[in-house]
Amino acid sequence: MTTALRPQPGIMDIALYQGGASRIEGQRDPLKLSSNENPFGASPKAMAAVTEAATGLHRYPSTDHAKLRQVIAEVHGLDADRIICGVGSDEILTLLAMAYAGPGDEVLYTEHGFSLYRVFALSAGATPVVAEETDRCVDVDKLIAGITPATRIIYIANPANPTGTALGSDELARLADAVPPECLLVLDGAYAEFFDGYDGGASLARAHGNVVMTRTFSKLYGLGGLRVGWGYAAQEVIDVLNRIRGPFNMSTVALAGAEGAMRDRAFVDRCLRENAEQRVRLTGGLRQLGIACDESHANFVLARFEDEAEAIAADAHLKTVGILVRLVKGYGFPDALRITVGRAEDVTRVLEALASFKGAE
Ligand SMILES: *Cc1c(COP(=O)(O)O)cnc(C)c1O
Repeated sequence: MTTALRPQPGIMDIALYQGGASRIEGQRDPLKLSSNENPFGASPKAMAAVTEAATGLHRYPSTDHAKLRQVIAEVHGLDADRIICGVGSDEILTLLAMAYAGPGDEVLYTEHGFSLYRVFALSAGATPVVAEETDRCVDVDKLIAGITPATRIIYIANPANPTGTALGSDELARLADAVPPECLLVLDGAYAEFFDGYDGGASLARAHGNVVMTRTFSKLYGLGGLRVGWGYAAQEVIDVLNRIRGPFNMSTVALAGAEGAMRDRAFVDRCLRENAEQRVRLTGGLRQLGIACDESHANFVLARFEDEAEAIAADAHLKTVGILVRLVKGYGFPDALRITVGRAEDVTRVLEALASFKGAE
């Protein structure tokens, strides 16, 4: 049946999001290294808080998320009034596009940037504009060259997904200084914690009225299934976003779980130490096998093979031994696989599997 219904311009240009695979035909319990999840799961304290919150499910949740914002503010040394919580950081990134970009406006991001940036732009009716990267890194000069009078939002993830590369604070500051005041610079900090010494862009967001930092509970905190993220920006920006977000966007359970997770610093520290150690092992092991990879500042490594055929064959081989990783052709890397850093035994399994793949070639 055909109808007269027509979605807004741009929407039919959006392809459906492909999540990291979670199943292998005929395998019972695959090792999932395809979505950059925490291999240690969520903090037991977060899980306990979620269970406890179940007694209050008949009540509407908080609309201002005051308790969660307060805990985040304490841990990160931020002003709670300038924090907004969302259904994953995806919601914050979406709200920014809805509020600040529309038809005739441009939304700028980089060549290998997160696939949803294009979706946010098109959903808002704005025009996506792509700046080139250099050697798989965001290139500040090329980004600046991509800014036009129509640019309203620049999205970059630091560290970036799927490359794991990151800009240092000098480069970020140079970029923030060059962005015109009527354009937002959004620093997507989904992997910020894994980048040693990086504040996620908090100091830039504190100093610049047009810099926004977004963070998530989905990666380091192991709460991808709960859907909690947050943003930090100038009061004016937060006030705008609060007008368009749903008053009950965060469930009681999500608020409680995130608060429990944020308070459990010992769990977070353990996960970070383990990730740093296993990332070194994974990177070194891949290179020894002749598989190129850049220094990663996140919880995954982009493994670059000889060509697309080899990457596809390696992915297929990993599947036969029950390991799921991510093909990243859609990010402009047909010859690469993105592999989440797992526990010590997971990294061993991946390296052994790739060694036998390389040996059999
Ligand atoms: C995972 C990820 C996010 C956020 O995910 P949420 O679960 O919505 O918080 C944002 N940006 C990048 C680059 C990511 O990889």
